[in-house]
Amino acid sequence: MRRCPYCNVGIEGDLVKCPLCQSKLPGTGEESCYPKFEAQKKQSLYYKMQLAIVWGLLIVGAGLDFLVRLRIPGFPDLHWSLLSAMWLIGFEFGIMRQFKPGTGSAGKVTMMVLITIVMWCVTAYFFGLMKITLGLVVPVVLAATITANFVLALIDKNGNTMVYLITCLFMGIIPSIICYFVSDKMPLAWAICLMVSVILFAGAVIFKGRAVADEFQRRFHL
Ligand SMILES: [Zn+2]
Repeated sequence: MRRCPYCNVGIEGDLVKCPLCQSKLPGTGEESCYPKFEAQKKQSLYYKMQLAIVWGLLIVGAGLDFLVRLRIPGFPDLHWSLLSAMWLIGFEFGIMRQFKPGTGSAGKVTMMVLITIVMWCVTAYFFGLMKITLGLVVPVVLAATITANFVLALIDKNGNTMVYLITCLFMGIIPSIICYFVSDKMPLAWAICLMVSVILFAGAVIFKGRAVADEFQRRFHL
C-alpha cells in the first residue's frame, strides 16, 4: 500500500493520484483493486467529443457574427450567435441531466421541455413568432407533456413522478384562466390544454388519489 504524503492516508490499488488531494502518489502501484469501467470511459469520451464540437461551434458562431458581421437575411440587427449559444448551452444542460442519477424519466422530460419552451420563446421573440408561439406551440407542448407525465405517473412505483405531473397541471391550468379573465376569451389551443389538464387531474385523483394527496401534503404542508 502506498501513502499520500500530504493526507497521510494509505491508498490501495494502482491509482496515480491521491483521491483526496489529487497530488501524485510516490512509488509504483500495486494491482488494481477496483473493476475497470469500460462503458463509463467510452461514454465520457463521447461526452468530451460532443463538448469539444459544441465549444467549436460557439466560437465559430461568435466569430462570424461579431467579427465578420455575417447576418441572417432580413434580420440585420440580430446577434444570432447569442441565440445559438443559448440553444447549445441548453442542449449541454440537457445532456448533463441525462447522466445525473436520481432523476426519473418524468423529471428529465419535464425539465427538458420547460427549458426548450423558454428557449423557443426567446428565439420566437427575436424572429417575430411570439403570437403563434404563445397561442399554439406552448399550449400544445404543455398538453403533450402533461399527457406523458400522466402515463409515467400511472406506471411509476416510486412516487417520483407526481410532483412533475402536478407542476405541469398547474402550468396547463393557470395561464388559460388568467388569459380568460384578462382578454375575456381563450385561444382554442389553450382551451384544449385546459381541458386535457382538468381531465388528467381528475384521472390522477381517481387512479392515484393517495399519491396526489401525499404530494400536496409534502409541498404545501396541508
Ligand atoms: Zn492526498
